[in-house]
Amino acid sequence: MRIEDPKIVAALPELGVELRPGSSLAELTSLAIGGTTDLLRIRKHEAIPELLKLLDANCVPHKFLGGGSNLLVKDGELPWVVLQLVAPGPDVVLDGNFAHVDAAADLGRTVTYCAKNDLGGMEGLIGVPGTVGGALRMNAGAYGMQIGTYVREVKLYRAAERKIETLSGDQISFEYRHTSFAPNDMMLAVTLELPSKSFKEILQGIRICNEKRRSSQPLGQKSAGCIFKNPPGASAGHMIDELGLKGLSVGDARVSDRHANFFVNAGQATAKDMHSLIADVKERVHKAFGMELENEVVFWSA
Ligand SMILES: Cc1cc2nc3c(=O)[nH]c(=O)nc-3n(C[C@H](O)[C@H](O)[C@H](O)COP(=O)(O)OP(=O)(O)OC[C@H]3O[C@@H](n4cnc5c(N)ncnc54)[C@H](O)[C@@H]3O)c2cc1C
Repeated sequence: MRIEDPKIVAALPELGVELRPGSSLAELTSLAIGGTTDLLRIRKHEAIPELLKLLDANCVPHKFLGGGSNLLVKDGELPWVVLQLVAPGPDVVLDGNFAHVDAAADLGRTVTYCAKNDLGGMEGLIGVPGTVGGALRMNAGAYGMQIGTYVREVKLYRAAERKIETLSGDQISFEYRHTSFAPNDMMLAVTLELPSKSFKEILQGIRICNEKRRSSQPLGQKSAGCIFKNPPGASAGHMIDELGLKGLSVGDARVSDRHANFFVNAGQATAKDMHSLIADVKERVHKAFGMELENEVVFWSA
């Protein structure tokens, strides 16, 4: 979708929003799949209510992009624009055991910065790509920990009320790869409370997690992490592996040879290829185990 109305184009710089026309989502996502649209880069949180009012009034639909590491985006000219926050100057500010973090901050750099200041707890998240906002949206976690445990406050744009609000951690429920935020809410900043630990001790934990990832995940390949959530008491990856589906392909979309719940773009995979592969694997797992796998990866299809 292209923003061509001169009224909107002129209003964007006044709101501190940068327009990048014709951006390729294949270049902005870790799966390297997706079509083209206008990208709006937001520099000031305060501008968001006005920006959304402007887009809605002119019937410009939008989606919200973090780091693009958990997305499968449709091909071709996309029927919505994409909004993305730009990280401000210092995107992590520490105050004792509290870390005040902008949602656009890179998750890995945030974990490392906190670690260097003797704040731990998030070692498991070290290899998770994307932004802190993306991690909050789906309560990212690994190796027995999840970001929600440390959340004390979230500043967000509440789509229903059309305003920016702050919620305390106990007003939000964080479950396995699920949160109580409304679908159109935008996380803008978070306060985390992290346990004190020596950098040396945190580094040890980080090294263990890194080693686990290196030995089990296709890290050099284009993927969106795990495609499916693990059903209660089961492992999606183990079920797919048991069915001998590693290496199964549709075009260049392929079930990783290293980790059966990672589907990789081995070349020029299209969204259609990846969707067919996901549907095929889902059906086979359902037939063999009677379990309906739920997507962990977010589809931007409509
Ligand atoms: C190699 C690899 C390993 C991975 N390992 C893990 C893992 O161990 N554990 C894990 O949980 N995940 C893992 N992931 C998945 C992914 O990295 C995480 O889900 C990450 O938190 C997504 O963040 P993002 O900023 O990239 O979100 P995006 O992919 O940009 O967006 C995902 C969804 O979140 C929404 N969103 C993003 N930012 C915001 C915001 N500020 N406010 C509101 N909504 C927002 C988007 O609209 C979209 O619906 C892995 C991915 C890869 C490629």
